[in-house]
Amino acid sequence: MERNTVQRQEIIEVLKTNYIHPTIKELCELVSNKNIGQATVYRTVKSLVNDDVIRRIECPDGIHYDYRKDHYHFYCLKCNKITDVFLDKNIIDNMLSALASNLKDVRHINLVFEGICDSCKGKSSYGIK
Ligand SMILES: [Zn+2]
Ligand SMILES: [Zn+2]
Repeated sequence: MERNTVQRQEIIEVLKTNYIHPTIKELCELVSNKNIGQATVYRTVKSLVNDDVIRRIECPDGIHYDYRKDHYHFYCLKCNKITDVFLDKNIIDNMLSALASNLKDVRHINLVFEGICDSCKGKSSYGIK
């Protein structure tokens, strides 16, 4: 935990201020002006995930990262845009209660809705005018 504290803080800060759910490559670009090498970004992100400080989002186009954990995601299959989805706690409790009794120790819920976002839908269903 003591190691690379400055880099950890920088990466957390970048994730806090950029709500774009960056991939590791995008994260490297975002911190490129902060003098953090690519290998350090990879290593730091891995340890932040292990320590449950940041969240991995598994999408069809790869892994994205998010600092906030109180929500889920909608992934647009056309433009790859990720939108935050906030679910009522009751919905989550319902899902968890549906699990068998030997599967109750849930640590993370990696829930991604995959579909077409509104702006892509507009384009495809009405065509070019
Ligand atoms: Zn879209
Ligand atoms: Zn998010």
